[in-house]
Amino acid sequence: MIDPREFIRAKRDRRSHEAQAVRDFVASYRSGAVQDYQMSAWLMAAFLNGLDAAETDALTQALLHSGRVFDWSGLGRPSADKHSTGGVGDKISLMLAPLVAACGVLVPMVSGRGLGHTGGTLDKLESIPGFRTTLEPDAMRAQLDRLGVVMVGQGPDLAPADGLLYALRDVTSTVEFEPFIVSSIVSKKIAEGAKAIVYDVKCGSGAFMKTPAAARSLAARLVATSRSLGANAAALITDMSWPLGGAVGNALEVAEACETLKGRGPADTRALTLDLAAVMLRLAGAEPDETAAHARATKVLDSGAAWERFLEMVRAQGGDAGALEGPARLHPAPVVSLVPSPADGVLAGCDCFRLGELVVALGGGRRAKEDAIDPRVGLVVLRRPGERVRRGEPLAELHLAGADDGAVGRAVACFEVAGEAPVAGPIVLERVG
Ligand code: URA
Repeated sequence: MIDPREFIRAKRDRRSHEAQAVRDFVASYRSGAVQDYQMSAWLMAAFLNGLDAAETDALTQALLHSGRVFDWSGLGRPSADKHSTGGVGDKISLMLAPLVAACGVLVPMVSGRGLGHTGGTLDKLESIPGFRTTLEPDAMRAQLDRLGVVMVGQGPDLAPADGLLYALRDVTSTVEFEPFIVSSIVSKKIAEGAKAIVYDVKCGSGAFMKTPAAARSLAARLVATSRSLGANAAALITDMSWPLGGAVGNALEVAEACETLKGRGPADTRALTLDLAAVMLRLAGAEPDETAAHARATKVLDSGAAWERFLEMVRAQGGDAGALEGPARLHPAPVVSLVPSPADGVLAGCDCFRLGELVVALGGGRRAKEDAIDPRVGLVVLRRPGERVRRGEPLAELHLAGADDGAVGRAVACFEVAGEAPVAGPIVLERVG
């Protein structure tokens, strides 16, 4: 049995770990022999002193083999998935998974909860009354066969050690570290059995990777590690210097995703969904090239088939699809305040990190592992970068659980109004692989 104090000391003193020691430490954490406080100490030591490529591979393998590795080849259809490195307002998975399934490709999507200042697909899905994000492997298989899509969390079968580490990293400020991100994401994606994976590597103020160089490095590593483990992989580096769409916050994002599935969502949300769908369909071999794949995904989205598939998935996983179909808002917040522009000028920028942190502070994310999520809170950004605004005009709606408590002032401080704005660039910044 590994001595956790010696393992932590080694990383504190900048020594490298043997692969076997990494596997033993992770296994001991999973069994309860290593405590949360010991894992937290090691996470911070590794964050500060680094993990080399061999240590990162060992960590990926340890997380991957902490559960089963699924294989859907018996279902006789190609499979694909997407994983985002995390952003603000990133609700793409909610549209993308049913869309690609409606195009005939299996999507066994395993997602995470909110991490740091970013939201998580599981927390968003759980704002749908009754929706279950854990399924037994047999139920997963049956649903995949019938509907072509499942959206679940890790549970005890699928990279469970990543689930434990993920929750701890979220509350110990040890998220934005490439070796942790690579091992966390790739272990889940390989374990879930998708044979084609596209990574949406976010870059900008609302991402963990703030610079193009950091995003490029992460993208290349995600692609290379996935390929070394047998999956066909590619990455898009996408802009996260502005929230994706308008809604940020769990129930608000689900509502916006439903609008997008019905053909009425924000342009950036729709465009990125279609771009990622095209890469998934190409990587899965369902279309020969991305032009054909994009055309097919657009047709299926516009036909309403992806929206129907989403509702079927919600019903299959115990969710109340009726709560999404009617005109009533999902989990309306008791207080909605407007965020006024501080000046006349042009909307020049947004500090997405601060915006994401504000939503966490309102109750939309966690500060401790045990914290409950308040699905009602968040904000809806009403204006786009480069738009001319007048002092006092609303820039956003803030959805609050109660009295303001300075939240409007904090939200105002997230936006920059200037004499002129930089020209808005494309949402897809670069492609890798
Ligand atoms: N998504 C994950 O699953 N893990 C990370 O570390 C970051 C984003």
